[in-house]
Amino acid sequence: MVPIPIGQVEWWGWGLAGIFCLIPIVWFIIAILLCVWVYRDAESRGMSGGLWLIIVIITGILGLIIYLIVRKDKQGPAAATAATPVTRVCTSCGRAVSPGVKFCPHCGKEIPE
Ligand SMILES: [Zn+2]
Repeated sequence: MVPIPIGQVEWWGWGLAGIFCLIPIVWFIIAILLCVWVYRDAESRGMSGGLWLIIVIITGILGLIIYLIVRKDKQGPAAATAATPVTRVCTSCGRAVSPGVKFCPHCGKEIPE
């Protein structure tokens, strides 16, 4: 009969538990930083920061990749070919308005969805 080194097994158990506890925490911090970055970046480009924040939260890395692709297209002339309308037209003054904007920045009229 060989006695099982219980102390060693427990130490290993706690060490592994510590690593498995840290991984989600690290990912959580990275995810929060990414979400904050996406939100601020989208808002600075006149895009809906809240919408992209939700997309990235739900889809994770995939949403982030989609955001980076869409963001690039927005700067180029290919923006008009995007599946979703990038700009809307104000019903009052007829000028282009960013999507997600409740009021026209040119004339101040409310824009219906
Ligand atoms: Zn207007």
